[in-house]
Amino acid sequence: MTGMEKSLCTLAAAFFLLYLNAALIQAQKASTDRNSLLKSTPRPASSFRPTKGTLTVTTKFKSRKFIVIDRLPSTLFKKLADWSNVCGVHLADCPPLGLESLRVHDSQIRASSSLRTGLGAHRGRLNIQSGIEDGDRYDGAWCARHKDKNQWLEVDALHLTKFTGVILQGRNSIWSWDFVETYKVQLSNDSVKWQTCMNGTEEAIFIGNQHTEIPVLALLPVPTVARYIRINPQTWYSNGTICLRAEILGCQVQDPSNIYAEEDSDYKDNLDFRHHNYKDMRTLMKSVHDECPNITRIYTIGRSYQGLKLYVMEFSDNPGKHELGEPEFRYVAGMHGNEALGRELVLNLMQYLCREFKKGNQRIARLITETRIHLLPSMNPDGYEEAYKKGSELAGWADGRYSYEGIDLNHNFPDLNNIMWNAQERALTKAQEKSKVPNHYIPMPEYYTKEDAMVAPETRAVINWMEEIPFVLSANLHGGELVVTYPFDCTRDWAPQEDTPTADNAFFRWLASVYASTNLVMSNPDRRVCHYENFQQHNNIINGGAWHTVPGSMNDFSYLHTNCFEVTVELSCDKFPHASELPIEWENNKESLLVYMEQVHRGIKGVIRDKQTRKGIPDAIIKVDDHEHDIRSAEGGDYWRLLNPGEYKIVVWAVGYFPSMRRCTVGMEPHPTLCDFTLTKTPAEVLKQIRAKSGKIPQDIQLRVRALRLKKLRASTKVINQKREGPRLRQKARKLNRKARAAGFWRA
Ligand SMILES: [Zn+2]
Repeated sequence: MTGMEKSLCTLAAAFFLLYLNAALIQAQKASTDRNSLLKSTPRPASSFRPTKGTLTVTTKFKSRKFIVIDRLPSTLFKKLADWSNVCGVHLADCPPLGLESLRVHDSQIRASSSLRTGLGAHRGRLNIQSGIEDGDRYDGAWCARHKDKNQWLEVDALHLTKFTGVILQGRNSIWSWDFVETYKVQLSNDSVKWQTCMNGTEEAIFIGNQHTEIPVLALLPVPTVARYIRINPQTWYSNGTICLRAEILGCQVQDPSNIYAEEDSDYKDNLDFRHHNYKDMRTLMKSVHDECPNITRIYTIGRSYQGLKLYVMEFSDNPGKHELGEPEFRYVAGMHGNEALGRELVLNLMQYLCREFKKGNQRIARLITETRIHLLPSMNPDGYEEAYKKGSELAGWADGRYSYEGIDLNHNFPDLNNIMWNAQERALTKAQEKSKVPNHYIPMPEYYTKEDAMVAPETRAVINWMEEIPFVLSANLHGGELVVTYPFDCTRDWAPQEDTPTADNAFFRWLASVYASTNLVMSNPDRRVCHYENFQQHNNIINGGAWHTVPGSMNDFSYLHTNCFEVTVELSCDKFPHASELPIEWENNKESLLVYMEQVHRGIKGVIRDKQTRKGIPDAIIKVDDHEHDIRSAEGGDYWRLLNPGEYKIVVWAVGYFPSMRRCTVGMEPHPTLCDFTLTKTPAEVLKQIRAKSGKIPQDIQLRVRALRLKKLRASTKVINQKREGPRLRQKARKLNRKARAAGFWRA
């Protein structure tokens, strides 16, 4: 913040505190009848408006607490929110205890009674998901056995804690509709003697839910220090039963009698651990680039539907260009906008790579010198902004997942699996060899390139990016589970769930294991399941199709349309962890993020050259014997074939050349085996070239179709962008005009 902004903030704060005081006095006068409060319609959680409770306004120069006994007028609240964003003021500054993140263990949660084991106290966690069927061990809430006012869910914070608020949500279920409408809160230091939370002289009644999925925040009238807290339902949905999912807000306070008190761990990497909205993200990326201008470059691959840019940060010792033989790697995060951890980890990674490179960290220097790394922190920025506005606890489970147009980007890529499988089947019935059917570089279907195809601008941008850069390895960062999935994501014959391996199954399993076994949470044998699926029994890795089928996924497209191998990492049980969880999540994922990037240096690599001219041959096919997935060489004739250790027979051919064969051995060491090829032109080709006026080598049909479809996709994208850009530019121009007019007025 500049000095000017700071003094503006100070001034605004001073006025605001005066204004708030006056408004609150008004509000207090107006709401003497508490019942009228209860009867009024509950607000949607998204407004993040304290219904009643304490509002703490803290700045460097002043700290005031306000007891809010009525809702703030919405204009006032909006002003407060805007102002607090600018000046860094927090409305409810105690973090969640971690019912959602699982920081709070099952043993810390108890209940008066429960309907059955699957609806036990340990299921009363914000955003916990039930399986498809109700009635197993993993249902979507805590539900009480009895329908009376004596039921409670109790959380032991383990330490003396200043409790500030409760977030409540109904039951997650396709079949049942249950939620708590109002509740009381009790506090205790010993779990024996309980004190009900008061609002003045009366017991405070908190507003709960009107919907099963929307979380509702209530702040305690007075933040209170205790060790235990109980949520005590008073009324609930009339046709349902007492069910809830909760999160508790509280700050641990110093307890001099507890010598075992956890010390605030100071994390080694002092990175910018907070949630970055679009503007903050841009600022952070720029600051990393300013810090490390020689090894970074920021570029954009396109725009979201709302016009936000899809920024990429590149790390390389020669940013901006592909170096012959150097593999290209990418991380893509935020494809589902509300799965916010990946975005922050990628931003952390940028800062970390830059700083460690400057410090002379040998591992990082090697990685950056030998690899070209591309980091896309936010593939769906529109979705993220929606979730960010609601905040980490109140965004619920799905707000912001989709693009602005409501498209799930991970289902939006062309389904090449079925095109390939159908072609293989046709080949089999015609008694042709199955191996003659292309198993890679499959062109996208014609319909997909049309202007009216339901293809999101974000997807179009990523496809274009994938074709421009010869990526070798990638991971797609998601959230909401703890598991690494590998392709195929789409099952054959529309089976809802079926193990559907690729020809590179062994290597994909290796890749997934590399991430999962180094992730500190996944690899912890004592961890509990996130929601209802036990991935630990599969060592935290699973074939995408074996989990649930996803036609049109980015992983499958990447594998079948380009040379790039990609897995999906589900980073945490909580899709949008509270900012206070970010340092520990960085520690949990740091080694995994680094060691996964290093896997791009496995298998074999080399350059395919023309024997006579020594020039690199692009688009040559690299075939591993007995392996139904080929790879093509890049522009300069360089190629990378990811493979597990072993001995391989490699055949290489290109249009107009005699094929060439070599045996290449891949060792256990984490660097690739060099395997170059030189190809000899066929006599026919030599003749053709002599005759041809333009020396351009004709490509095979598959490549021609593939290039043509990309051209069409680009053309239709351009038209769509122009249509969208028009109104946006006009709006911008109108704004500028207004500003200019206003400026003119003042000058006059
Ligand atoms: Zn996701």
